[in-house]
Amino acid sequence: MYTVAQLIGGVWGAGGEGGELVVHDPADGSPVSSAPVATADEVGKAVEATRGVAAEWAATAPAERAAALHRAADAVAAVADDLARATTAEMGKPLSDARGGVEAGIGTLRQYAELAPVRGGRTLHGATHALDFMTPQPRGVVAAITPWNDPVAVSCGLLGAALVTGNVVLHKPSERAPATGWLLAKALDSALPPGVLSLLTGGPEVGAALAAQEVDVVAHVGSTAAGRAIAAAAARTGAKVLLENGGSDPLVVDGDVDPVWAAGQAAVGAFANAGQICVAVERIYVHRDVAEDFALALVERATKLRTGPGGDPRTELGPLVDRRHRDHVHGQVTAAVAQGARIRTGGTLPDGPGAFYPATVLTDCRHDMTVVREETFGPVAPIVAVDSFSEALRCAADSPYGLAATVLTGSMSHAQRAWRELPVGTVKVNAVFGGAPGGAAHPRRGSGHGFGYGPELLDEFTATKAVHIEAPGGGHW
Ligand code: NAD
Repeated sequence: MYTVAQLIGGVWGAGGEGGELVVHDPADGSPVSSAPVATADEVGKAVEATRGVAAEWAATAPAERAAALHRAADAVAAVADDLARATTAEMGKPLSDARGGVEAGIGTLRQYAELAPVRGGRTLHGATHALDFMTPQPRGVVAAITPWNDPVAVSCGLLGAALVTGNVVLHKPSERAPATGWLLAKALDSALPPGVLSLLTGGPEVGAALAAQEVDVVAHVGSTAAGRAIAAAAARTGAKVLLENGGSDPLVVDGDVDPVWAAGQAAVGAFANAGQICVAVERIYVHRDVAEDFALALVERATKLRTGPGGDPRTELGPLVDRRHRDHVHGQVTAAVAQGARIRTGGTLPDGPGAFYPATVLTDCRHDMTVVREETFGPVAPIVAVDSFSEALRCAADSPYGLAATVLTGSMSHAQRAWRELPVGTVKVNAVFGGAPGGAAHPRRGSGHGFGYGPELLDEFTATKAVHIEAPGGGHW
């Protein structure tokens, strides 16, 4: 059992008067971690203490901050196994996936340590006797509020970019993965000056208290509903808001592709991490010509997945994060069935402990069903048969979200239409996952705004100042 402590103003174990929260292993329901809950008063004090060290950290040479981030990456690497085990114990994903998330996080910390000192502003061509330039400066106090589904990778991105650009950071990890956040904070803090990083734990109310504070940036990765509440709170304080939120990513299967290969892509997209990935395949539009063969092949893939606890190395499909989330997933499936969808596999609540849910394939779905339009965030693949590629693109574009989309097609002109017309941040053609290193995109609509990753995230955490300098009396220097 992990006993989590908060880090406030450089002091471990501070606060926690708001009570205690206990996380249960989603594989068997046993208690895994206990974490203190911060009160609103503690959140206020933490912001104040953090602001107290902001000027000194901002004035630290960029190369020195980068060196500290490299040391922080070393410290995270030294506890990589512990972090992966904590992630699996708290949210259930297979251990190898959890380890992959930790490695990704370490890679991101190192990337930001390399990139930050070499990024600068522009020099400008003004009057010959004047000096004109633009320079990025730290924004100040950053509140980073993160989710549970890939807790280390996501947190390392926000924290690494904010810290290396000279900001002080208050991190509020998910209430479903506080021990993972705590282990990460311990590693990062060991390489940073005291007080530069604070850790606050608790549920949405702690996140809300933090977002209501006079901070300079609130960076939130999580659900669209929480992102909107945070944006409303920040509108009152004037804080900059960075939102990477939910999605309902479409997969379009064109009539000219091999349906068995397409089903393999769909299975990876819909069932990896039990569907709990922001860019998971959430809805599938398949050309009617290949729809039945595609559905049969997807059912075969779904039924072959080895289900079990994330700690078992044979497991391909772990449990969902908890039973509350499982109820949400199952509710969408049963509502779809009531509206005419057909369960081809899965769709039933298993007996036994934990929050397991089977890989589920639904056919006869319609574009207006909630399971198609909303984010399910579970191992559910709803299939809508369409008559043309144009109809598929139209449906794919018609969404309250705009995170990413995948199109499987043998037609270059269809691929071109897809990337031009789809109102999403990322378009993938003929591969559900992948992409070159360093890529970053703007999410659209309810999926958020701003760059949540990539080199551009460094810019999000800085404010650019334009400077114009002349000699006194209008003369020359
Ligand atoms: P969530 O928004 O419920 O929780 C995320 C964090 O926000 C937690 O720390 C939580 O305590 C806090 N929070 C919740 N309500 C809040 C409020 N009103 N004010 C302030 N803070 C609040 O999301 P989750 O369930 O942890 O994560 C799953 C969601 O995250 C999915 O929608 C998924 O698509 C999204 N996600 C998006 C990305 C991306 O890059 N776009 C990446 C990972 C996850």
